[in-house]
Amino acid sequence: MLLLDERQAVAEYGKKLITSGLVKGTGGNISLANPEKTLLAITPSGVPYETLTPEDVVVVDLEGNRVDGQLKPSSEMAFHLALIKQRPDIKAVVHTHSEHATALACLRWELPAVHYLIGSAGSVVPLAPYATFGTQALADNICRVIGSGNAVLMANHGLVTVGANLRKAFNTAELVEYVAKVYVITKSVGTPVQLSEAEIQEVIDRSVGYGDQPGKKN
Ligand SMILES: [Zn+2]
Repeated sequence: MLLLDERQAVAEYGKKLITSGLVKGTGGNISLANPEKTLLAITPSGVPYETLTPEDVVVVDLEGNRVDGQLKPSSEMAFHLALIKQRPDIKAVVHTHSEHATALACLRWELPAVHYLIGSAGSVVPLAPYATFGTQALADNICRVIGSGNAVLMANHGLVTVGANLRKAFNTAELVEYVAKVYVITKSVGTPVQLSEAEIQEVIDRSVGYGDQPGKKN
């Protein structure tokens, strides 16, 4: 089976999307490129994560042609491919409709640095303008705003995060949801104080390599 390691990791993290509460039902999708970044293992369209097997995970080339697997790839394949092609450091992409991040996206707000844990994503989580799900226009909008950060809110839709591996992209999705929740709570009772660019940059500098353990690749 092509890309066995990557397909196992996608199936494993697919289950985590559900157990973490980041995704309900068959929403969201995740992908992981091979080390050479010539192929992408991506969740299939509409298959429940609880029963997802490595065989169900679809392998596509960077043009989106299916090269292994029986199922249809995720309907959001366009932005996964666009992000993988946009930056050399991106190997994994996680997309969720987690509630608080999505609430901000529906307000068409970006997420500011109200808690230091946003550093996993960057100094801010920018907002990509609205476009219909599954379109190249949506992929273009995300790529236009992501810059060097690791997360983007998608207007009236949800969240996408990226990383050098699935663990990092998934962790960032969890942390952005947490900071979004804190932001919503603080906005409901007062005015949250934002960290300065210098303060959040110091967090980012201290976090480089955090959680990287020898022998852990996904
Ligand atoms: Zn979506």
